[in-house]
Amino acid sequence: MMKSTKIQGFKVNLLKYSDALDFVKLSLDNGEGIQIVTINPEMIEAAKKNSEFKEVLNNAELVVPDGVGIKLALKFKGIEQEQIRGVDFAQSLIELSSKHSFKIALVGAKPEINTKLVNVLKNKYPGLNIVYARDGYFQDENKIIDEIKKSGANIIFSALGAPKQEFFNEKIKNAIQGSVSIGLGGTFDVLSGSVKQAPPIFRTLGIEWLYRTIKQPERFKRIFPALPLFLFHSIMEVFKR
Ligand code: UDP
Repeated sequence: MMKSTKIQGFKVNLLKYSDALDFVKLSLDNGEGIQIVTINPEMIEAAKKNSEFKEVLNNAELVVPDGVGIKLALKFKGIEQEQIRGVDFAQSLIELSSKHSFKIALVGAKPEINTKLVNVLKNKYPGLNIVYARDGYFQDENKIIDEIKKSGANIIFSALGAPKQEFFNEKIKNAIQGSVSIGLGGTFDVLSGSVKQAPPIFRTLGIEWLYRTIKQPERFKRIFPALPLFLFHSIMEVFKR
């Protein structure tokens, strides 16, 4: 059993980066279907108002702490946990897929960004087996899932934004036996080189979100209430124990 804890009723796995990667590799080798969630405070705040979303998050086989807010909330509980960033983890999974010839599907982002990502990855990993790729702006989810199933993909990378990608991945888990899926938010925009990665100082401090907010001020509205609210509730939860 993998170690986990709950923050405000939400599951978070406690494990090293390399163990998370090993767990995915093992699931692929054994043909065990898993859904991976890269959780952050915005998602938790949204799921508090959406019980179906909460259920999907807590049912995921692997929930990795993506946001620095999650790392902080764990620290308040006395737990030291390294941050497992979605962008880094996605890159590691792509390397893993290239090394072991796993078949990958890339679903999400705008059409031109998805195409750019495929080209960037093909150049970087010549042996990478991309069996399915398409943008994230479609109407009929079931049709897309059917196409993914027919492609024979082992790992499905979904970058549709939360909670859309988590609902989508849950459907995939039920429809495609033995598949691994991961929800990745705006990661394709970064991996394709369309949006600049935060400079090292922001990454070291774990405040990429601040950099992204400076670059895209319209994000402020979404992040601002969620992060302080989440941290406040995390502190309250510790006092209530
Ligand atoms: N996106 C998509 N389909 C949609 C809505 C969004 O593919 O119907 C993509 C969008 O192009 C972006 C990604 O989802 O690449 C994440 O969007 P956003 O930055 O809003 O989400 P976050 O990173 O905050 O989860």
